[in-house]
Amino acid sequence: MSESDTLRIRSNIHTHTTFSDGKHTPDEMAQAAIAKGFETLGISDHSFTFFDVGYCLPREREPAYREAVLALKEAYRGRLEICCGMELDRFSDPAITEGLDYFICGVHYVYANGVYHPVDNCAAATERAVREGCGGDESKYVRLYYEAVADCIALKPLYVAHLDLLTKFSTIDETSAFYRKTALETLDALLDAGMPIEVNTGAMARGAKDIPYPSFFLLRRVAERNGSVIFGSDCHDRAKLDYAFADAMELVKAAGVRRIVEYRGGALQPAEP
Ligand SMILES: [Zn+2]
Ligand SMILES: [Zn+2]
Repeated sequence: MSESDTLRIRSNIHTHTTFSDGKHTPDEMAQAAIAKGFETLGISDHSFTFFDVGYCLPREREPAYREAVLALKEAYRGRLEICCGMELDRFSDPAITEGLDYFICGVHYVYANGVYHPVDNCAAATERAVREGCGGDESKYVRLYYEAVADCIALKPLYVAHLDLLTKFSTIDETSAFYRKTALETLDALLDAGMPIEVNTGAMARGAKDIPYPSFFLLRRVAERNGSVIFGSDCHDRAKLDYAFADAMELVKAAGVRRIVEYRGGALQPAEP
């Protein structure tokens, strides 16, 4: 049995609570994390996006968010490491993350013709983004999305979430040479920046996909470059804190990825058996 056969993920720092669009409070998430044997829980509610306010953390609630998570960190000390983070949207004000334990970054919109088109909302919204935002040119949509992902690097997040989120509702042919080149170049840029690639099971938990982000050919590239991956469930429901991690681990191993990291003690560390 190789070492990766016995690896168990004990840290998840991509989670959402009632402070943004999650179903459960930070305390309820912490209880679930302990019940599932996690040692580290990072709360990463959605940063405020002025152009789409329905799902994210309002600016006026940011102090309450930080206070609640920091109080929880003290309350659970010795039982569960709790970190106060945020999922910063590419188009949010990066200053929102100042003073947090960590933040991750994600692209949830394609900005085209002056409109922020949601990437992971529904098939109709994606179709509208291609038609109205990109003049029907799907390759422009792909290019704008991945340019925004690459732009995240300059914001210096711990890592970039759900690399190929645009596959959730799009009709993009992932086998096309253009798509592969664009996605692989962006992946390479993240690896060059020293970031782990997130294996994100969020869309599986919502029944929207049967594999995690990113797609297998991207995991293969991570393996070829001896890059690392980090597991994140993008959890919006405490019952799904480790949703499909076992299946995702099988894919990671099948791709040949050897380096799996976790966030523990304020830093990325190799996952341990
Ligand atoms: Zn996200
Ligand atoms: Zn998320």
